[in-house]
Amino acid sequence: MFQVKDLSFRYPRNKQDTLRDLSFSINDGEIFGLLGPSGVGKSTTQKVMTKLLPDYRGEILFRNQDLKSYGRDFYQGIGVGFEMPVHFSKLTAQENLTFFKKLYRENADTDALLERVGLIKDKDKKVAEFSKGMKVRLNFVRALLNNPRVLFLDEPTMGLDPKNSRIIKDIIKEFRDQGGTVLLTTHLMNDVEELCDRVAFMANGQIEEIDTPKNLKLKYGARSLEIEYSENDQIQSASFNLDTFGRDPEFLQIIQNKTVLTIHSSETSLDDIFIRITGVETDE
Ligand code: ADP
Repeated sequence: MFQVKDLSFRYPRNKQDTLRDLSFSINDGEIFGLLGPSGVGKSTTQKVMTKLLPDYRGEILFRNQDLKSYGRDFYQGIGVGFEMPVHFSKLTAQENLTFFKKLYRENADTDALLERVGLIKDKDKKVAEFSKGMKVRLNFVRALLNNPRVLFLDEPTMGLDPKNSRIIKDIIKEFRDQGGTVLLTTHLMNDVEELCDRVAFMANGQIEEIDTPKNLKLKYGARSLEIEYSENDQIQSASFNLDTFGRDPEFLQIIQNKTVLTIHSSETSLDDIFIRITGVETDE
């Protein structure tokens, strides 16, 4: 769907490039996560790829054609949900959606979407009266109102409670399962784990790693086996190398002679990987 080659970008007033030689591709029908600490350039990348920042260097192909060759028609097929929801606050939710629907040839059933995200009863309220979470949900509906094939989402569950966050994540997965392609940025590793088919980790304006969450865990995983057992009425624990524990005399001695309480392989979390690659805590 997208092939990005050596993409660099500098904001006009800045001395340094914000994006430096990014290369990645996004396949048709996948959810691709762009991850990294705040300020690393995730939103900038999304803005370049949605043609909002045209003065980039390098090459971006969209459906095998130079992104620069597309005119305004490009927007007919994409949906954009950026982090800061921008709505006309003096208009109702419905009036906002009706306004934006007119910009597109194809329209989705927004009542069905409003129902799904729990806003149908509020559709005739002015957006000024909406809570932050309601605005985020309305913003998400807006991203889908032209039946896009590609969705750009920047922190789509930011500020939502677990129930509403689940609804949004379910819709994103359904969108992908029906053939849609998603470029998602988030700092919530649980969302990444659940949604993303592949992820790119960014640090210092560059991409440091691209792979599936599963492969990254294998690559960065400690590959150890943790065992807890009781000995003289006390709980003891031991750790073994996952590749060699079957031949380890100490391990064999424990499982033959002690009462084993728990046994599990240690999984490196995406949070651990995020910190390893970017050097920054995820909740920054
Ligand atoms: P992220 O989405 O990863 O938090 P951004 O893409 O928003 O990061 O920002 C990347 C860097 O670009 C930051 O250092 C930010 O200050 C800078 N930046 C963002 N927008 C502008 C702008 N309009 N002009 C100048 N610098 C900007």
